[in-house]
Amino acid sequence: MIIEAQQVGVHYGAQTVLSDITFQVNKGDYLNIIGPNGSGKTTLIKILTGMQKPASGKITHASVVFGYLPQHLRQSAKLPATVYEVLKYSNKQKPTDAHIDALLKEMFVDHLKHQRMTKLSGGEQQRVYIIRALLSNPDCLILDEPTSALDPTFRKAFYQYIEKLNDQGMTIIHVTHDLSDGLRHGSKILELDQTVKFFGTFEQYQLLGHKKGAHVHHV
Ligand code: ADP
Repeated sequence: MIIEAQQVGVHYGAQTVLSDITFQVNKGDYLNIIGPNGSGKTTLIKILTGMQKPASGKITHASVVFGYLPQHLRQSAKLPATVYEVLKYSNKQKPTDAHIDALLKEMFVDHLKHQRMTKLSGGEQQRVYIIRALLSNPDCLILDEPTSALDPTFRKAFYQYIEKLNDQGMTIIHVTHDLSDGLRHGSKILELDQTVKFFGTFEQYQLLGHKKGAHVHHV
């Protein structure tokens, strides 16, 4: 087990955002965290990575290196830096040029290496931030609505690549509001709406009548 949440609770003033959240993540898991807007998904990620402390309950994790691709990325896209500069210098672990080049290729943006971030489309910027998250060689990669700005063709390639990383042993936590992406055999699902509505495998989830592709709002 690499992460364990025990009866975690969070509130902002009088508003309870998360209550009694208990689940575990094992090494190599592919966990989809689903739930409608405002159900507490992003807050839970902040708690898991230690960016925020829970008001009650406990999070334990082994020494895990997290790679985090946040949902809102636009701020640093305003900097006059190039793709290469963002990847090389905004990473504590000082990635090698060979590692940067390999990931630029993997994400089909190698031709943009010396382009300024401000000149890229939203989807291209998102790919650069995916690369930045991967350059820290994370044990656990957290993707918060990763494909919101990606076109369908790249989306497919993106998930194939994430599955390859998962096959190699990387733990994936994938936050999404719909279930059409990121599902694979053996995926786990944590459905949130302030509390845990469901935690188990995708196969168990389907037995409850949920379908792949259904928007969580409607299930
Ligand atoms: P989700 O990621 O599922 O959309 P969030 O975790 O972002 O949900 O938000 C859950 C709830 O907590 C929302 O009602 C949101 O308005 C509230 N919230 C999130 N962050 C803060 C904050 N820093 N201060 C006050 N309320 C917050």
